[in-house]
Amino acid sequence: MWRWLTLLLMMLIPWTTVRAQQFVTPDPTLVPTEDPYLPADMPEDWIRTKGVAFTIFGDPTDLAEQQRLLDHASASWPELSEELGVPLGGRVHVFLTESEAQFHDLQPGRAPTWADATAWPNQRAIFLRTDDARPGVARPLTQVLDHELVHVLLGQAFGPRPVPSWLQEGLAQVHAGEVGADHALTVGRDLWMRQRLSLEQLTGPFPASAADAQLAYTLSADVILWIQDTYGDDAMRDIIRKMAHGATPEVALHEVTDLSMAELEEAWRLRYELADGWRWALPENLDTLLFGLASLGLVFLGLRRRRVMRHELANWDDQERALDKLSRQLLRRWYNRRS
Ligand SMILES: [Zn+2]
Repeated sequence: MWRWLTLLLMMLIPWTTVRAQQFVTPDPTLVPTEDPYLPADMPEDWIRTKGVAFTIFGDPTDLAEQQRLLDHASASWPELSEELGVPLGGRVHVFLTESEAQFHDLQPGRAPTWADATAWPNQRAIFLRTDDARPGVARPLTQVLDHELVHVLLGQAFGPRPVPSWLQEGLAQVHAGEVGADHALTVGRDLWMRQRLSLEQLTGPFPASAADAQLAYTLSADVILWIQDTYGDDAMRDIIRKMAHGATPEVALHEVTDLSMAELEEAWRLRYELADGWRWALPENLDTLLFGLASLGLVFLGLRRRRVMRHELANWDDQERALDKLSRQLLRRWYNRRS
């Protein structure tokens, strides 16, 4: 009973570009036969742009953008399917909404208020917004679309089985090209040192607060990159396939990497600790190093001036104090940036 209720609830939770969780058919080779979602209250003047696997819906004024998205999705779909090692599913509907209100009103269920886009794998539906309806646009819409396509592909491959959030969001970010090894390592390392989330904690829905969710997203991307770097792309596909066929994360990871979940996490953590020990030498920390050198230089100058000028006029004292203060500030800033 509870299992079914939980399942029903999870089917109503969309995957978004900022966070979420999902699935589909128990047999990944089985293509769902039911029609993809179509909102009952879709604007009457909307047009549809149809391709082999996708139908894009939207306002006639956005026709060029719809065509661009269709072309992009048609090319990405088989590529992502191959990269992830999961089969292609049935037709997907993509809705290009024109406002915040429209974006939320047309969804089959509730979407988080901050969501930039959503994917509903069971309904084979993706909701996007035009750039005009995206406050603070950071990523190209085609990249957002790729992220959602990964959610739909994984959701369909897993069927009714929940996809762990770290796997779902990690793969979406990595395969949409949102993060590279450097980015995740740099951002994730700092976050990791402050708050160590385990894979277990990253399995369910991500934290509600934007800052915590961001941490969860970053760490999810990093664990995927780390597994790929360490064990190879085929290993990652093996893990996805085993889990899609019902293996728990513990079993799938152990069968592929020969490590227990705890050992795997320890190895992953070591990457941060090693990186942390050597971070002062990384080019990205050049400005910190320069700060440090400048601070030391000022301290040296201050000491020297103090000796030479001790007998000089009284107003030099003020300048000395100002110089000392500046040195202290620089040193403090340098130290804070390093810790
Ligand atoms: Zn996502």
